[in-house]
Amino acid sequence: MIHVVGAGVAGLVAALVLARAGREVTLHEATPGAGGRARALPDGTDNGTHALIGANRVALGFLDEIGARAGWIEPEPDGLPVLDLEDGSARLVALSPLGWWRADRRPAGVSAGAVAAMMRMAIPVPDRTIGDAMAAHPAFLRGFVDPLTIAALNTPAHEASSRRMGQVLRRLGAPGATRLFVARRGLGPDLVEPALDAIGKAGGRYVSDHRLRRLDQSGGRATALHFHEDSIPLGAQDRVVLALPPWEATRLLTHVDAPHSHAPIVNLHFARTGPGPVRFIGLLGALCQWILVRPEGVSVTVSAGDAEAGEDADTLAARAWTEILRAAMAFRLPGEWPMATPACRVVKERRATPRQRPGAIPRPKRLHLENLALAGDWTWPHLPATIEAAACSGRAAARTVA
Ligand SMILES: Cc1cc2nc3c(=O)[nH]c(=O)nc-3n(C[C@H](O)[C@H](O)[C@H](O)COP(=O)(O)OP(=O)(O)OC[C@H]3O[C@@H](n4cnc5c(N)ncnc54)[C@H](O)[C@@H]3O)c2cc1C
Repeated sequence: MIHVVGAGVAGLVAALVLARAGREVTLHEATPGAGGRARALPDGTDNGTHALIGANRVALGFLDEIGARAGWIEPEPDGLPVLDLEDGSARLVALSPLGWWRADRRPAGVSAGAVAAMMRMAIPVPDRTIGDAMAAHPAFLRGFVDPLTIAALNTPAHEASSRRMGQVLRRLGAPGATRLFVARRGLGPDLVEPALDAIGKAGGRYVSDHRLRRLDQSGGRATALHFHEDSIPLGAQDRVVLALPPWEATRLLTHVDAPHSHAPIVNLHFARTGPGPVRFIGLLGALCQWILVRPEGVSVTVSAGDAEAGEDADTLAARAWTEILRAAMAFRLPGEWPMATPACRVVKERRATPRQRPGAIPRPKRLHLENLALAGDWTWPHLPATIEAAACSGRAAARTVA
């Protein structure tokens, strides 16, 4: 038997790989629902907007494997609409520098020197902050690099690691790598439910509300798993994949090289329905970084929102709605856009991702004990903590224990 503990993306990927390889698998999840930091809330709302790009080949491959790829649509194939609230300028921006040959797809402040400074971060030179690396190009830093940094690293450019950014930039050159995708209906129907369905069809077993409380080990092996109401002794053939966030892995195991500082993401979900289509808009000089407009509702993302994580929900909603109205006007979004702030649900994920500052990247051993492998976005040192990193780690952990 292989026990996969934690049903976030890493655990879902590991469980599917193992079940499809014919192994006997049980996936244990602490909470009532799977998905972890990429989950649907009980009312069907996503905890937060999740975007994938074409470079996320393992994550997109996983969506293919579970039959959910068609649910991830490209809302802005002609370029990302970006509104700068400071000067009111609205433009379409190509996410790939290759698209900047068109003057009407260039970000603010772009120049040959600015692009060269950004591309230098792709070379693994000594690590420093992205703010320092781009200091000579403040307009391009503000108009393109900082939003990209916050989106990819959930850490503002003046704090974030240029080496971490280099990991992202090196993957953006391939054809289609910068195409941006979002879940058409949401993370429940477009990710978590098809993943659980595929695991079940492959013979895997899923148990929710089953939190691993303690783990016994002896002689370099895990020997028993203790959940709230039951304990499972591990036989010689049994294996474990711990697909947990870093704070849980370090609670259960000793000597794990894990990140200790985390950054929040605040999401606001407004009950505003409209005709569609799905739109994805970036804001500069604003509280909100991204606005996702779906027929069923409007969501905004405030990444690395340390201050906002402590702010009162009504104040945040009123501030965000004012910005959304300006974006709706700038890009002539169809449908009704009431002046009064609609009902809003605020979701504060206080430990959304590790803070990606310059310094050593944690490199936990994949096979932590003879029969126990680690998975999770933070265990994949080649990328910042994202769905892609989680998917890569889940696949690697499954192969290791199999
Ligand atoms: C609001 C928000 C927006 C984001 N946006 C993006 C984005 O646009 N693109 C992107 O690529 N990434 C994004 N991310 C990051 C992405 O969600 C994570 O990198 C990814 O989901 C991590 O998956 P994981 O499986 O490694 O960990 P987790 O999702 O943390 O999964 C761990 C699972 O283990 C369970 N668990 C914990 N303790 C126990 C225990 N003791 N016993 C059993 N189970 C346990 C948890 O409940 C959870 O289900 C975002 C994250 C947040 C929070």
